[in-house]
Amino acid sequence: MPSNGAMFAFASVVASEEKFRRCAAPGLQRVSEPDAVVAQYTDATSMTSAYNEILDAFAAREDLEALVLLHEDTEILDSEFCAKVRRRLAADPEIAVIGVVGARGVRSLAWWEGEGAGRVAETRGLVDFGGGSEEVDTVDGLLLVLSPWAVRNLRFDDERFRGFHAYDADFCFSARAAGRKVVVDEIAVFHHTKGGYGDEQEFRRSDEAWRAKWREAGEQRAEPCTVCHADVVAEVAAGERAIVACPACGTGITIPAPDRDIESDGIWVEQYGGGRMANREHWYAEARVRADWVGRHVTGGLLVDIGGGTGEMAAVAAERGFRSALIEPSGWAAGQARELGVERVLGDVADWPDVAPGEHADAVTLFHVLEHVHEPLEFLAAVRAILRPGAPLFVEVPNFAAEDAQRDPVAWTATALNDHVAHYTPESLARLMADAGFAVAEVTPLPSMVYDHPAYWASKCERWRARGMVRPSEDLLRLRATA
Ligand SMILES: [Zn+2]
Repeated sequence: MPSNGAMFAFASVVASEEKFRRCAAPGLQRVSEPDAVVAQYTDATSMTSAYNEILDAFAAREDLEALVLLHEDTEILDSEFCAKVRRRLAADPEIAVIGVVGARGVRSLAWWEGEGAGRVAETRGLVDFGGGSEEVDTVDGLLLVLSPWAVRNLRFDDERFRGFHAYDADFCFSARAAGRKVVVDEIAVFHHTKGGYGDEQEFRRSDEAWRAKWREAGEQRAEPCTVCHADVVAEVAAGERAIVACPACGTGITIPAPDRDIESDGIWVEQYGGGRMANREHWYAEARVRADWVGRHVTGGLLVDIGGGTGEMAAVAAERGFRSALIEPSGWAAGQARELGVERVLGDVADWPDVAPGEHADAVTLFHVLEHVHEPLEFLAAVRAILRPGAPLFVEVPNFAAEDAQRDPVAWTATALNDHVAHYTPESLARLMADAGFAVAEVTPLPSMVYDHPAYWASKCERWRARGMVRPSEDLLRLRATA
């Protein structure tokens, strides 16, 4: 139900009345709520200027919930359309644009040459990149759902792009350059098109102009290596991030550094959200595999799981005879852990001496934590301080030395450009630990098969095979050390 007179607006640039009536109109009838506004623009000389007129017309509407720009040959099939969009925008206020199909790793207007995402039915057949809800670089302009923020703050570039190409990718890149997100979502639409570039010469001209704006005007950026503090430099286009191996020690550094606040609930709520709780059985299974490893080296006493989110590891440790505690900065995740019966939950490792003076842990676990930490040496010093001397520390991170990471540092399975500050190799992780005063006992690369559902593992292997890899990737890295 629309709330407080909030309004969805739909607009289309119409070149052929017949096509609009046959394709877009039935979809609009299907999904429009009684107070929706439907606008048609005819006589447009370019998509960018026509769309800007539409944005100008709606920017001042305080009751605007979303503006939906769709092609005259796009038919929305999803009768839940408005409810889905409303939910998605409410769940993540950083979203500026929602589409149905798009890609990551986009290097030209031929976005489909990137890593595709989403799904759309077209006259020529189903274009299917697996569906789901995913963050992307750009979506296809066949359907653009704009948040009120996007309508009020972004405009199409009608000076550079005068025709009917590039407007979508340019708008999406502008949104991301402003720190907002572009996503695909599970929305059923039918695109009444046979595909193709349209005017191929025009497409190529637009592509050159787009690349000159977004790909070639890179800026030199530097970040300090989290292990050896050497400057790591990359040329990065506006709104993009790169991962570059530190020339001195091989650690992969994300440039510019992710700025999502790990002190907040951001990662757990936005990235995993309700999906994390729906998959709780999986997180339990994962925790049991981890506890098996831990149990081979220590069998009792106080185990402190740091960065353990919703608490499954701490709960499993308790089942196995440990006294367990959880250190987790996200209040939301910590609350979920308390509901599991984890009694000692605190927000910051630095608070431990105040909360438990004189008490030392017999084991600390850090599963997929270090790659999020900006100053790992400082953090590890605090971790070491809570461990009993000689007690073990168990660490797991994505393995930057894995074959898929080395082939394409940005497109590998554990990139997480918005969250992962550093990407460790066996050598750089061992060095970091030694520098933090730990004695390294074990460094083991291993495949994520140990955690994955068989079907998910099979789909990963399929992706690797498609990239020409003959063996599955050892995409994880474990390290055990003593304080
Ligand atoms: Zn380094």
